[in-house]
Amino acid sequence: AAHGVGRSFSVGGWIGARRTIAAVGHVDLAIRRGETLAIVGESGCGKSTLGRLLLGLERPTRGQVLFAGQDLAGLSEGRLRHLRAHMQLVFQNTLAALDPRMTIGEQVLEPFRIHRNETGTVAPPIEQLLADVGLGAALAARFPHQLSGGQRQRVVMARALATEPDFVVFDEPVSALDVSVQAQIIALIRSLQRQRGFASVFISHDLRVVRHIADRIAVMYLGRVVEEGPIATVFAAPAHPYTRALVSAVPRIAVGTARQRVRLAGEPPSPAAIPAGCPFHPRCALAQDVCRVELPRITAVGAGHHVACHFAAVAAEDAAPSTMTAT
Ligand code: SF4
Ligand code: MG
Repeated sequence: AAHGVGRSFSVGGWIGARRTIAAVGHVDLAIRRGETLAIVGESGCGKSTLGRLLLGLERPTRGQVLFAGQDLAGLSEGRLRHLRAHMQLVFQNTLAALDPRMTIGEQVLEPFRIHRNETGTVAPPIEQLLADVGLGAALAARFPHQLSGGQRQRVVMARALATEPDFVVFDEPVSALDVSVQAQIIALIRSLQRQRGFASVFISHDLRVVRHIADRIAVMYLGRVVEEGPIATVFAAPAHPYTRALVSAVPRIAVGTARQRVRLAGEPPSPAAIPAGCPFHPRCALAQDVCRVELPRITAVGAGHHVACHFAAVAAEDAAPSTMTAT
């Protein structure tokens, strides 16, 4: 399904050492060095596809993804491999990411074999790489199945960060872990990012997780960014009805506001049958006739805050969900 969504993407912009910009649909997503952009949405909305497009692992059918000024789509495999030495993907399934027959030490050092010519970086001692992610040197001789899920996620991060990437995409990195382990991994990601200054995209379906790690957030619905802005702004004043529903469903965020829980009607439609007009209209209590025929363009509603809704201003002001189903 994600591949079907991917075909409708238009990705453009540039990703540089100092500043990262990418556009999906009509929105510009900007990440400064050291910053984290969260991409949030239900499963099948295209979050992972966007992450893969940003890394050049999937090619856009139109638009462009620029990394350090170079359009990924126009590069040869060789050049892409070179650029990928500066970009990394960390995903949820650590058992799939790790080779069961190789020791932890061999796998953490693997990027230095693959990218030796590209990065010119000399591998630091394995003890150092493991210590950077909070693991003891003794783990180097073990195999993946001998580690806990949290330890494996740390190993995957050690390997991803070994070559000092400029840009890392974390795709649901803590979703498979217990809540207490999630908090530890998130704290680790934050501290590594502070020390090393890489830009990152953090993909998640869980608003509670991204709130503690992201500087900005992009909310996706059926392959499009429907709202994008500074994380504090979007949590305090979500302007898109879909974002408002997501935010209102997180108790600790809603505390202290008058906002009640806004329930989403129905299931997310299939990416293979995207509704006409505003794709959210079948589930939106604010939908009017125009919503059924006209796709809303993404427009600014505040500083660095963009929303794709014909009634975004109304939605932002209408904090009491009188027109929506509340519980
Ligand atoms: Fe709802 Fe219409 Fe806004 Fe879409 S454009 S989110 S249907 S009010
Ligand atoms: Mg995914």
